[in-house]
Amino acid sequence: MAVNLLDFDLDGLAAYCEGLGEKRFRAVQLFRWIHQKGASDFAQMSDLAKSLRDKLAAAAEVRPLPVLTEQASADGTIKWLFDVGGGDAVEAVFIPEDDRGTLCVSSQAGCAVGCRFCSTGHQGFSRNLATGEILAQLWFAEHHLRRRLALKPGERAITNVVMMGMGEPLQNYNALVPALKVMLDDHGYGLSRRRVTVSTSGVVPMMDRLRQDCPVALAVSLHAPNDALRDELVPLNRKYPLQELLEACNRYLESAPRDFITFEYCMLDGVNDTDAHARQLIALVQGHVRCKFNLIPFNPFPASGLKRSPRERVQAFAQILADAGLVTTVRKTRGDDIDAACGQLAGEVQDRTDVQRRMTRRQPIRIHARPAPGAASAKETSS
Ligand code: SF4
Repeated sequence: MAVNLLDFDLDGLAAYCEGLGEKRFRAVQLFRWIHQKGASDFAQMSDLAKSLRDKLAAAAEVRPLPVLTEQASADGTIKWLFDVGGGDAVEAVFIPEDDRGTLCVSSQAGCAVGCRFCSTGHQGFSRNLATGEILAQLWFAEHHLRRRLALKPGERAITNVVMMGMGEPLQNYNALVPALKVMLDDHGYGLSRRRVTVSTSGVVPMMDRLRQDCPVALAVSLHAPNDALRDELVPLNRKYPLQELLEACNRYLESAPRDFITFEYCMLDGVNDTDAHARQLIALVQGHVRCKFNLIPFNPFPASGLKRSPRERVQAFAQILADAGLVTTVRKTRGDDIDAACGQLAGEVQDRTDVQRRMTRRQPIRIHARPAPGAASAKETSS
């Protein structure tokens, strides 16, 4: 099979080009064609020597992921379902706001962590994505949106990437890091470290490696203020309990591009949302780790047996944290009508049989009308 050039960060591409007898600056040119201009046809790459274009055409390709469906929400959120082969599919979600465009990217088909409130977790684990499959989501979304939104040359559709789609990114570390490097590279997508966020359920050893190899913004899925409850909600806690996790957060902050960790906290009715839980959370983090809280209204799905906390409960919980001086936001639910809200990303693919059936039928991609960009309120962030 041809070599997929989306699998390489710039150093990797330079090494590959060197193997073809080409200098590094040729790799830079090629890299810019692929990631900055969205080109996949080597014949288009006019400043590359014809001999190099011929070599590339014979041995390599820029391999996109086939799009199974595209769904646009009334609030401007767009969700793509990508075919990654073998009956598996992954999703990426674009969330437009006034001042930015965020792409939520998947790192695995399924997930092995099995968080109780997460529909991807209920699906189980299928496989890790390759670097090229992680980047293909960004490559497609950026260049597709540039055309669709008729952006001017140099304008970007995607200003922020969050590794919060399907999968635990730190359990696919070797593929993740080169993908992050391409996102950050000035010859690639040129995103600042503060605008690329890895979200983890708390894989402590890999948090330590990430801070050395490629420190970007970090979000930690906390979801509980004590080990007994977190053991139940986020099973990885049994391996890396809260105290170890918070110590890893503090080590991470030594090299992080932001001076706080974002703690994600999914609000589950009667499970983790009482005043007592809020006070426990304060005792857990205050004076121990610099952090912000992002409270996420739970998006119910039948197999979970869990319910969303009422809006007033979420507000009261947020107020207790805020009164204690902890910066707290309540995430605005986006893309509810297309199952693109947080924790729903497996909604479409949970039933593998259904995906296989749709893939076999080769349904045409559903293209919806261009949505009006949505705006989040000042106190709410988007999922
Ligand atoms: S919340 Fe994240 S880590 Fe937990 S099961 Fe879902 S995808 Fe995996």
